[in-house]
Amino acid sequence: MRKCPTQTGEINHVDGVYHSQCHSAERTILEEQKFPRCGYCDSDTAWIFMRPTVSAKPPLKTSTALPARRQSKA
Ligand SMILES: [Zn+2]
Repeated sequence: MRKCPTQTGEINHVDGVYHSQCHSAERTILEEQKFPRCGYCDSDTAWIFMRPTVSAKPPLKTSTALPARRQSKA
């Protein structure tokens, strides 16, 4: 697995809403964009993926979009 938090200056590969590790500043970052600095403190930070962007398809249908993680043992 790759490292989960992505640092400022790295190229994003997954469209989504991210939040900065230092201030939890939410930001939508698209594919091929560089991760910016924190919007609050303007410092290099780590960005943590929160959720996919909701631009194209409305996530109304509860199909198999997100596999539910169940912690109970089968
Ligand atoms: Zn910050």
